[in-house]
Amino acid sequence: MVAATAQVGVIGLAVMGSNLARNFASRGHTVAVYNRTVARTETFSADFGAHGTFVAAPTLEEFVAALERPRKVIIMVQAGLGTDAVIEQLIPLLEKDDIVVDGGNAHYEDTRRREAALREVGLHFVGAGISGGEEGALKGPSIMPGGSPESYAALGPLLEDISAKVDGEPCCAYMGTDGAGHFVKMVHNGIEYADMQFIAEAYDILTAAGMTAREVSDVFREWNTGDLDSYLIEITSEVLDQEVDGRPLVEVITDQAEQKGTGRWTVQIALELGVPVNTIAESVFARSTSGHTGLREASQGLTGPDRTISTDDRAALVDAVRAALWSSKVVAYAQGLDQIRTASDTYGWDVNISEVARIWRGGCIIRAKLLERIRQEYAGANLATLLAAPSVAAELGNSQDAWRHVVAVATQAGVPVPGFSAALAYYDTVRSERLPASLVQGLRDFFGAHTYTRIDKPGTFHTLWSGDR
Ligand code: NAP
Repeated sequence: MVAATAQVGVIGLAVMGSNLARNFASRGHTVAVYNRTVARTETFSADFGAHGTFVAAPTLEEFVAALERPRKVIIMVQAGLGTDAVIEQLIPLLEKDDIVVDGGNAHYEDTRRREAALREVGLHFVGAGISGGEEGALKGPSIMPGGSPESYAALGPLLEDISAKVDGEPCCAYMGTDGAGHFVKMVHNGIEYADMQFIAEAYDILTAAGMTAREVSDVFREWNTGDLDSYLIEITSEVLDQEVDGRPLVEVITDQAEQKGTGRWTVQIALELGVPVNTIAESVFARSTSGHTGLREASQGLTGPDRTISTDDRAALVDAVRAALWSSKVVAYAQGLDQIRTASDTYGWDVNISEVARIWRGGCIIRAKLLERIRQEYAGANLATLLAAPSVAAELGNSQDAWRHVVAVATQAGVPVPGFSAALAYYDTVRSERLPASLVQGLRDFFGAHTYTRIDKPGTFHTLWSGDR
């Protein structure tokens, strides 16, 4: 029997699992590793065995036996059926108080189900959202764990150790019980969809104004030194700078964006919770539309402006696009955080939004300078919306003329800006003192006797409409 010498174990040695195992080892932890296909474990050992202390287990039994108790097992396999299969095989091998962590991109309802099932048999189940891609897993991701507070007491220090650090603080914090961690990760990905859509619209507008990909790359590089400073803005300048066969690579890549599903989940669940996330929805739909070749081919004959934006002052347009991008980004964060707050209330998670912003500042794909401001605004304040935070509201007020100008100019030129315009429509909707929802209520009462309330009297009313007579 193998001696129990490993502080943590990783199951699944594809790119994420092996990088996470290497990350643990690089910080001095002994790591047990296991993969269903033994050849992958052997390759891992051959490649990295000399760079850390690993116990490469050919069987799950040997893997479990190598772990110090309470055992901490991190599953990094294909989300869905793969995770369920591994859990099923693990349960008979584990003992009371052992901790099973799912670090994959699980749906939070699956995590709730798995947590309840493992609790029944005396085990802890932690759904940990992990963001940062391959490099983050290796060098320091942002980690969003959800589960029992007791499990975090035992597991938290290990996860914090391998996470990214910003100002010396780990980008990992306890998010709440059962599905909280995977929910927060899902919304992170939803915001990522919106961030990328806004960036794509900014690029589209600037090229419609006659700029080359390389010139737009320079603009993004410059933006990355200001309040838009973020990982996605930084890599945008690199992607736009890339050339192939003497042409910008971005002009050669097929214009059909793909998706794996976390953006879609964010929107589906927002609909169920009744939280408006129109920027994220438009971003998911923009990807779907891009890949809907039949629809696009059938629409090629439709008339409209020729996508040319004329301007005498390119610098002013660039600055206005920057303002539109920043404002839209703030709206997407406001919507995502509203969704997290609503889910937290619904499921009793008690998610600390300031902590969410704090751990998103490093390691993850949406890491951005803006998150430090969001962290500060939510610290000690129970904000109903990020948009109402004093410093944010003031800056949106200053940016809104430019934002409106960009949406108007793009729309007049026939450049689609579903993200920018959705964000602006949300901004104008939530700040409106009175909405035309009153007419919607009137119509509902007319055809369905759904009743309405009034601003001048208490109670519920129904009108005897002419159609009723
Ligand atoms: P992956 O391609 O999603 O999955 C491959 C791994 O899953 C292999 O180790 C495979 O084992 C194992 N596996 C699949 N079905 C299994 C089953 N029924 N029983 C046991 N093992 C099974 O790997 P990945 O890209 O490293 O991602 C791992 C997880 O992290 C996923 O949930 C993914 O969504 C999440 N994630 C990925 C990224 C990323 O950037 N890639 C970022 C964040 C989160 P075999 O070798 O035996 O086939």
